[in-house]
Amino acid sequence: MKTSLTVATLAVTCMFTLNSCGGSGEKTPEATQPITTEATPPLAEKITNVLTLSGNDQMKFDKNELIARAGETITLTLKHTGTMEKNVMGHNFVLLKQGTDINAFAQKALKAKDNDYIPKSESANILAHTKLIGGGESDVITFKLMEKGTYDFICSFPGHFAVMKGKLIIR
Ligand code: ZN
Repeated sequence: MKTSLTVATLAVTCMFTLNSCGGSGEKTPEATQPITTEATPPLAEKITNVLTLSGNDQMKFDKNELIARAGETITLTLKHTGTMEKNVMGHNFVLLKQGTDINAFAQKALKAKDNDYIPKSESANILAHTKLIGGGESDVITFKLMEKGTYDFICSFPGHFAVMKGKLIIR
């Protein structure tokens, strides 16, 4: 009984989210047919501007790649899944303008302890950033990028950027 209920639930879910069920990947025969105006491109379905990223006590982000759409508000939630305090294992998300020298940026960030390692002198290179958080904390930010492309993000806590970095791809 429980099994059939689950199947029924899945079927109902599929009815409401037709596009995401049945593995409608690019390799299906349907994808080779001319795209009608009412069809949503497969790529667009997969991109959501609601992003989550976690940092842990092992000084790692859980993702090194995030994807979002250009021209629409992006909501990013940064979570610290560890237990260590932010003065020991603090994490933030700092999104850098394309072409920013990450090493040079991180060197300046090192000296910006009084501003949670966000160097004010580099504000022109910072597209968005969260606050610095410790274990169990989280922060949510919203921002928007108009230009498609690949952007670097790092944690600017001293010594973390070498490992805690990734790419935000805007499509
Ligand atoms: Zn960190």
